[in-house]
Amino acid sequence: MTKIMAVNAGSSSLKFQLLEMPEEKVITSGLVERIGMKDSVFTIKVNGEKLQLIKDVDNHSEAVKLVVDKLIELEIIANFEEIQGVGHRVVQGASVLTHSVVITQNEIDILESIVDLAPLHLVPNLTGIKAFMEILPNVKQVAVFDTAFHQTMAEEAFLYAVPYDWYERYSVRKYGFHGTSHQYVSERVAEILGKPLSETNTIVCHLGNGASICAVKGGKSIDTSMGFTPLEGIPMGTRSGNIDPAIIEYMMVKKNKSAKEIINILNKLSGYLGVSGISSDSRDLVSAAEKGDQRAAMAIEVQAKRIVDYIASYYVYMGGADAIVFTAGIGENAPGTRANIINRLTVLGAKIDPVRNDCRGIERLISTDDSKIKVFVIPTNEEVMIARDTMSLL
Ligand code: AMP
Repeated sequence: MTKIMAVNAGSSSLKFQLLEMPEEKVITSGLVERIGMKDSVFTIKVNGEKLQLIKDVDNHSEAVKLVVDKLIELEIIANFEEIQGVGHRVVQGASVLTHSVVITQNEIDILESIVDLAPLHLVPNLTGIKAFMEILPNVKQVAVFDTAFHQTMAEEAFLYAVPYDWYERYSVRKYGFHGTSHQYVSERVAEILGKPLSETNTIVCHLGNGASICAVKGGKSIDTSMGFTPLEGIPMGTRSGNIDPAIIEYMMVKKNKSAKEIINILNKLSGYLGVSGISSDSRDLVSAAEKGDQRAAMAIEVQAKRIVDYIASYYVYMGGADAIVFTAGIGENAPGTRANIINRLTVLGAKIDPVRNDCRGIERLISTDDSKIKVFVIPTNEEVMIARDTMSLL
């Protein structure tokens, strides 16, 4: 019996799940929020019950100490060494860290050298890793990259048509994100269909606050909608997705803002929030649209149209697909959004079954028996992928 912790460190948060492997059983999970602020909030779920503690947690090292001390106090573990490995979700491995690795000083140096590629995420990821190394120095730390699954894309898919030295000298290319989720979901599809993974073609729609579509051919990512950063692709909760890049300079002049400020607007004030003017949360938009709010309805339609653009293009690029899958917050919980997308794909022979589609958060086939493509809802499980990789590297 091996206990593995899967960790996701953000700038002011630390999310964790403790799993028993290889059974893949979740022992406990939790979250420290507002790290570095007053009244940090520590939530831990034990036996289905949520315990909450409010106290000042100054930094990530204190957060890690708080978590492991609590695990001992609650007798979930007897001592630190009982955690045999910690797997860290790391947003970006670039073309140098192309699969999960045991973290040594060398990997930390590499991550520090590529911090420019994703400063908002990589800096907190590194802080989380260092905090665990400090508090649990004898426990192996593993990095699992959001980008790794997409390293199988061909040059024609990952190169931008910009001066080639942008790629060679500055690493400008499509990386893709949500890799562990796309991999988990596409592997599950092959299992459900009872087909070898190498013969299964799946289009995964990971629709959460951040959202991306992925073409998985024979278990390998051959294209995905997010790019150099998670801003590219379909419109999301607050992100614009693709726009004409010329808009950036145009709006810099109109609003007298810097490029950084405009990019910040594209990241934080666009997507659902920007179009609707109401909220970045799909639940708010669905209920506002039901009450007749035109812009809320339009925000949903704008996203659905672009999702369908990707699905159709990937269908052709893969030479057909066995399945389209919905996952993550919206994908798992918004039947109306799923139906709106699939109803735009009748030309591919995709047909949704309204009764089957009336479900939330469960694994289910939601297409009709005569649909030419199977459509599934499959709840994602990024933590289990992190724990699997960590386990295999121990
Ligand atoms: P995630 O980033 O995967 O946690 O997904 C967050 C998104 O999922 C938000 O837009 C939520 O509104 C959406 N979501 C979660 N639960 C529901 C629900 N029951 N109905 C519609 N959307 C939901």
